[in-house]
Amino acid sequence: MEHKRKILKGLEHRLYEHPFDKAALEKLEAIPFLTKASEWVTSNLVERVYTVQYTGSNLKVTNKNYPIIHQYLEEACRILDLKKVPDLYLQWSYGINACTIGAENPIIILNSGLIDLCDEDEIMFIIGHECGHIKSNHMLYHMMAQVINFIIDAISGASLISGGIQYALYYWNRMSEFTADRAGLLCCQNQEAMIRTFIKMAGLPIKEFKTIRTETFLQQAHDFKMLDYDNMNKVVKFLSIADESHPWTVMRSAELLKWIDSGGYKQCVI
Ligand SMILES: [Zn+2]
Repeated sequence: MEHKRKILKGLEHRLYEHPFDKAALEKLEAIPFLTKASEWVTSNLVERVYTVQYTGSNLKVTNKNYPIIHQYLEEACRILDLKKVPDLYLQWSYGINACTIGAENPIIILNSGLIDLCDEDEIMFIIGHECGHIKSNHMLYHMMAQVINFIIDAISGASLISGGIQYALYYWNRMSEFTADRAGLLCCQNQEAMIRTFIKMAGLPIKEFKTIRTETFLQQAHDFKMLDYDNMNKVVKFLSIADESHPWTVMRSAELLKWIDSGGYKQCVI
């Protein structure tokens, strides 16, 4: 089953970024308040406050204690040409997932369930997704999306600002997932594994893991009707930003399949 993954030396994130991510980011960057907000985030050590809860609670993974897990990350960074290998932690949770927090010094946190319930390529898909967020410099705005209400309260005069900023951030946050998924696929380089990961995340019970049927899920993803940019924006206004409650596995698979069909994936791995 093992296959050698290609190292994508010199890979540029712009080559594979999702157009919805780019469009939403351009809108965000045009909001003057966010420059102020990012200065506030830096001067108030939000990254430290934010990361300390993870570094103070979870298991740090190194090459010495859990070399196999650390090697997944090292390989992902090599494949995606990510210059600095971020710190890696494990947290006890059985949702098949991971997250990245921080901005200047981001750390990746993998759920124990990801390691126990996924095979190597599936793990590489998720780790590649997280590395993709770092590679595309998503982290500062990601952190702001988490704490934006707090920032708006904290900066005097900011109460005049409408809820539009929150929504713009939440919306971009969601769209950035599409880009990160592309990085995940570029990292694992196994489309079947990508689909299997989404099936598991979408709710397949462990008892059924031995008989995963990718064809029916592929059909479901092909049949899924994506909203256009504006309507998607409206939907996001009503949604929580919590990935756990809305992992959007079918929609994300559909977007990745479209990218593969368009030849975008191939262009990056050639
Ligand atoms: Zn993500």
